[in-house]
Amino acid sequence: MICPSCNKFAAYDTSEDPDFDLEAIVNGDSIEVTGTCRVVITSECCGDELREASFNIDHVFSLKDIEASAMSLGQKDKIQPYLTDLNVIEWYAEADMADVNDLKIKGQRTLTVSVPITVQGVLGNEDVASLTFEFEDGIAFADMEELV
Ligand SMILES: [Zn+2]
Repeated sequence: MICPSCNKFAAYDTSEDPDFDLEAIVNGDSIEVTGTCRVVITSECCGDELREASFNIDHVFSLKDIEASAMSLGQKDKIQPYLTDLNVIEWYAEADMADVNDLKIKGQRTLTVSVPITVQGVLGNEDVASLTFEFEDGIAFADMEELV
């Protein structure tokens, strides 16, 4: 593709950090992480955005997952009274940006994205559960939306 800024044939740069639009929702006695991850391929010369793709993320942590994590952190006693009412616990989701840059164009055809996502439950100032899952998806390069 031609880089719009310098009008030269552009080498592809996949090092741009993906954008996340994620939320962790308490749903009864489980936690659902939903949202999107947007990846962009830029021109190596000028950093112009050339192609993009969005991936849908949807993962449910069950009550068993939450209990197992609380147990491993030695916080089972603290989380136990709240297990029937998870709404009292503040949840947030974050992606470990150090591991997010695992973008590859395999044989110049497929873009894969692999992202570990961590959800932590906090009660007061204490972490009572830390739940992680790995999101993995891919898209053919030709199917990525052209931006220029
Ligand atoms: Zn350029």
